[in-house]
Parts: sequence; C-alpha cells; structure tokens
Amino acid sequence: MKMPAIDMHGHFGPCVTEDNPLCDVWWSRGIDLVKSRARDVNIRLTVVSPLRSIMPEGASDPIAGNEEALNIAGDDPEILFWAVLDPTKAACFDQVGELLNHPRCAGIKLHPHWHRYEIADKGDEIFRFAVEHSALLMSHSGDRYSFPESFIPFTNEYPEARLILAHLGNDADGGLERQVRALQQCVTPNVWVDTSSAKSVYVGLVEWAVEELGSDRIVFGSDTPLYSVASQKARIEFAELSLSDKRNILWDNAAFLLGELAPEGPTDERTVPLCTVESDVEAQLVQDALSERDISYTSDSFDAFSSIYFGKTPKRRIDICVFERDLEQARSVLRELRDKSAEGR
Ligand SMILES: [Zn+2]
Repeated sequence: MKMPAIDMHGHFGPCVTEDNPLCDVWWSRGIDLVKSRARDVNIRLTVVSPLRSIMPEGASDPIAGNEEALNIAGDDPEILFWAVLDPTKAACFDQVGELLNHPRCAGIKLHPHWHRYEIADKGDEIFRFAVEHSALLMSHSGDRYSFPESFIPFTNEYPEARLILAHLGNDADGGLERQVRALQQCVTPNVWVDTSSAKSVYVGLVEWAVEELGSDRIVFGSDTPLYSVASQKARIEFAELSLSDKRNILWDNAAFLLGELAPEGPTDERTVPLCTVESDVEAQLVQDALSERDISYTSDSFDAFSSIYFGKTPKRRIDICVFERDLEQARSVLRELRDKSAEGR
C-alpha cells in the first residue's frame, strides 16, 4: 500500500438508509476516522461530500449537510469537499454558488437517485450552472434517474463542462459496462469515471475499462466510509495494469482535474518508467546492469489483459522503473546494454 493517491469520492457524517439499520451504524463516520483510514493507505487527499446532504432518499437536508462540510473543511490539507447540489431546491443553487468560492471546495456533487429527479429533466439547469461557475461536476451514476448515458446529451451540449461519473460497473439493470459505454459516446474527452464500486472487485472490470477508455479517463474513488478504502485502493494498486496506468488513476488524473487544489505531487519518492521488456531474462539483464551501478529500481510484471480477455496467449510485460533523479544515468546504462548486445550479434 505504498502508492500515493487522491481519493475523489468520500463521505462523512450520519448515514440514514432507512432500510438497513446495521449499515446506518457502520457507515456513519466522522471526518477524523475517514482521514485516518485514508492515511493508513497513503491517500494524501480525500474529496468528501456530507451524507446528510444526500440521505435519506427524498428527505435529505442538502443545505444543513453543506454547512457541515464547510465546518470540517477549514484549511485541512487532507480534505476537500464537494458542495452537494439538489436542483429541486432553489435555495440550494444559491448556497452552492457561494460554496464554490471556498478555497477547499472541489466542485459540485449530484445525487439524482437520492434526490429523486431525472437527470434528463434537470440536466440543462445543472450544466449551465456548472459552466457559469467553472465548476467540476461529480454525479452518482448507474441507478434509476442517473443512468450514465442520460448525462451525455448535456456533456455534448456543454463541452466546457467537466463531469466525473461515479461508480464504474454500477448498473441497476445488472450490467457492468454502462459507464464505459457512456464515455465512449462523448464527443469531448471531458467526462471521467471513478472506480468507487462494489463491482470493481470483479476481476477484469478495471482492466477492461482501461482497455476501452485509456487510463486517463479513470479516477480513483473509494466511497469511504461506505466501502473499505483500503480494499478499494488495493484493487487499483494490484490491478493487472502498467505502473503508469495505475499512476494515472491514483494520482495524475485527479491532480489534473483539481488543478491548484491538488496537493503537491509525490515527487520525493516518485519513480518513473525506464523501459518495458517482454521477458524475465531481458528484465534480469537490465536489473543486473542497474544494480552494478547502484541504481535502485522497481519492476512490475503483468500479463497484458487484452490477451487474457480474448483468449490469446497472455503477452508478458515487465515495467522497470527508477527514481526520477537516477533516470539519466539509468538511460545510459540501458544504451550501453543495447550497444553491447548489438556488438554481440
Ligand atoms: Zn458515494
């Protein structure tokens, strides 16, 4: 659990499902516990929205919840908050408009399902508001009122808007591909999907999404404290993906979306890809040459997912990474190695 991460999807505060009393106990968690669980797995920043603003279904108090978010955000470097917009309440537009000026506010969170409105009906008003305020949008997706494809006419009509669809693989109709297929209908690249999902534990889902969309359209989200943040992060950290894909998902895409609100990049411990090789023998040669010069490296092997998926012989790939400060020297080691093998031929 070493890779640093930004969690774009967290919550805090009292949870009222009304039909599941045990979950109401387990999921009602204060911000301190949300933070310490994140810290345990090297999540440097969590973007939270108040559960009071979205629960219970059809009877939440978004304005009181947003006030709670304001109280906990302060200038805490580990926390940003989403201002929850319930477009069925006019006063909520005013409050969210104000909150978007707060230095710890990341943007607008939507929850059509809990607030009981159809995105097709309210989308125009919401997207116009978001564009006016240059605000990043995140929405629950996959349930009644919030099917991923329902957002796309609006993201196409408002190409300046930026939207994260939450919950990769969540589909009330039982499918797994709805978020991915919706993103493929976008005429702009300004829509992302987050990984917070009970479905993400399915082997293949995250890897397939990367194959279909590219890793730059996927951001890490955990849905903490409703889901185990440690297991959601492990799902990405140990995915059958290249290190650069994992980095895109866990850090770089979120940092891009948050702009100046993003924490300083993890440069001190940051390794960068040196090369990718296709056999263990080749990897060993490179690693030995690096060791000889006292250059530390990490290597990360995986079987390219597309091959597994389509039943071909898996294509092995091994990423070798070095610390950024050693990159130049490591490249020259690599060049020497190539020259030597060219001479040998
Ligand atoms: Zn959530």
